[in-house]
This record gives sequence, C-alpha cells and structure tokens, in this order.
Amino acid sequence: MVGPLDVRKAVTWANVPRPGTLDTMTTTVAAYAAPSAKAPLERTTIERRTVGEHDVLIDIKFAGICHSDIHQAREGWGEAIFPMIPGHEIAGVVSEVGSAVTRFKAGDRVGVGCMVDSCRTCENCLAGREQHCLRGNTGTYNAIGRDGEPTYGGYSQKVVVDEAFTVRIPDSLPLDVAAPLLCAGITTYSPLKQWGAAPGKKVAVIGLGGLGHMGVKIAHALGAEVTVLSQSLRKKDDGLKLGADHYHATSDPKTFEELAGTFDVILSTVSAPLDFGAYLGLLKVGGALVNVGAPEEPIALNLFSLIGGNKTLAGSAIGGIAETQEMLDFCAEHGLGAEIELIEASQINEAYERVVNSDVRYRFVIDTATI
Ligand SMILES: [Zn+2]
Ligand SMILES: [Zn+2]
Repeated sequence: MVGPLDVRKAVTWANVPRPGTLDTMTTTVAAYAAPSAKAPLERTTIERRTVGEHDVLIDIKFAGICHSDIHQAREGWGEAIFPMIPGHEIAGVVSEVGSAVTRFKAGDRVGVGCMVDSCRTCENCLAGREQHCLRGNTGTYNAIGRDGEPTYGGYSQKVVVDEAFTVRIPDSLPLDVAAPLLCAGITTYSPLKQWGAAPGKKVAVIGLGGLGHMGVKIAHALGAEVTVLSQSLRKKDDGLKLGADHYHATSDPKTFEELAGTFDVILSTVSAPLDFGAYLGLLKVGGALVNVGAPEEPIALNLFSLIGGNKTLAGSAIGGIAETQEMLDFCAEHGLGAEIELIEASQINEAYERVVNSDVRYRFVIDTATI
C-alpha cells in the first residue's frame, strides 16, 4: 500500500457477514505488534479466524518491511487501528485450505500483498483493479475486515486469507526475496507497464530504496534504458549492477540541465517532498512522471510545468490481484527478487530506524520463525 488508508471508509461496509467465517474457533498466533503510535513494536499473540470455506491458512515464512508499515504504525498517514500488526509483503506456504478452495492446496508456495478483500462486485473489482474497489479494499492490516474484525498483517507466524487474494509464488523464486515483491514489486511493475517501459524507451527511477531498486530491475527487464536519479552517487555501483544504464546525482544542479527533455517515463519512489516541477522538466514532450511515493505533506506545483510539453503527472497504487500474479511470474521468468537484509523479529524496531534513515540495501525481511 502506498497511500493513506481511509479506515472510516472500510468501516462503513465492514459488517457484512460472510458464510464460513463466523465460526468462533480461532487460532492463537505469535506476532509483533505496535501497541500504539508512539510505542516500539513488541511480541504478542493474536487470534486468527478459523479457516472459512474460501480461505487458505498460510504458514508465514518471511515478511518484508515496507516504509508504509512505518508511516502507518506511527500514524504518519492519519488515525490508525491499534494494536497494529504491520506487514503486507507476505511469503509462506499453505498449510490448510477451506472446503471450497480450488486454486491452492497444502504445501503450495504463496504470497499476500497489501489487500485481503474487496467488494468484488463494483466496476473496478470486476476489471481486476481491486485496489481501487469503490467500497474500499480491505488492507492486510490497519483495516476492518468484512467480518467486522481488525485485520492483522505479516509480522506473525500464520495468516488466514481468502484464496481470491492469495497469489502463487513460482518455484524458482526463493520465498525470502519474493516477499518484497508483494508490495515493492507490484508497486513499480504496474506503473512501468501502464506507462510503457519497453525497448526504445528511456525510463528514470527517482530514489534507489526498497521500491526504487525493484523499479530499476523491472524497468531493465522490460527492456527500457534505465537511469537512476538519486540524491548522491553513493549507491552508483549498486544501481549499475541492478540494471541501470546511467546514474545521476540530483544534488548536482547540472543533472537537471544535462537531462532536460530526456525521459519517456519517470517513476518517483521517494516519500520525501520533491521539486516536481524540476523533475517534469526532465520529461520528453508527452512524457509521464508517475508517483508511487507518498509524502505526508501536500506539494505545490506550477502547472505550467505540465502544460509546456503536454506532460502527465500521474499516480499509481500497487496493482490488482491478477496483475500481482503476472508480476510474480515475470520476476520468476527474469530471475528477479528483491535485494534483502534478513533480520530476526527482535530487530524490527532497529530496522524501522534504519529505513527512516534510508540505511538499508534494499529491503528488510523478517524471518518469521524468530517471532
Ligand atoms: Zn508497502
Ligand atoms: Zn469493489
């Protein structure tokens, strides 16, 4: 998830009963929770609902730490639900399936991303854009599910998810490097595809962090000529190894002169407020600057920077479930996983500080066996 969750919107349709999930038998599961917005995360236990007829029970093996976990756990994006079990980059193995499940069986390698439900009947759900469900999708955590209960995310040992919101992780992708694909992968894959990253196109990626490093890998695998625009040249060697053809420091004003009018697509992955006008100047006529980062404050923009050159400033939020599966299959085909630093659950708070300080190459992944 890359934008503020509207918790109230989720609540308005929360109490629709779902057959097969009303059983009171639950499973107690170890987890790491933020007890409140100001408190560090700590070990706890939570109850997972009984496996309904359309549900799969997943033994979580790995959970990525996304910057949006921190935004939400600290209420940077507004009021949140506590205790909060963050985590929407979940990779694991199915251990049990409900009676009506058709797509999965015990032993299957699966993933869960930023949402676990949606209305499934609105025009966006029917078009495979469940993330834009008109009644609000149900976030994997920090949301209220259709059973009226809060949802809890991947910093835990098990999760029960409807099979319709579960995707398959291809055998060739190790689960630890696959976990971050469920948010960072789809968040960058979807806009790169939509805005035409392909052979013959020049794509720039702003920021070489958790999202940006996947953006570089995916844009390169899609055949585009890739440029990293980063504050400094500190990560240049990494960027070139990840698949970038060029690397420029945005702290150097010459970058903006030299690259003026260069790119077909620019993907901004940073959460800090940028001078969007300056970056729009780097687009070709008709080019698009797509933003997937979510600064906590509004931006100011002189709209002449769009009008001159028929340019587009766009946004993009994760991707639908079918597209998430397509992304995983694409990553498997091209041998793409995230660059990760595997941590134990006891290191989560320290990892949060390091993410805030951009001190991670490039995604922390929690080994959930250590919870
Ligand atoms: Zn995320
Ligand atoms: Zn819907």
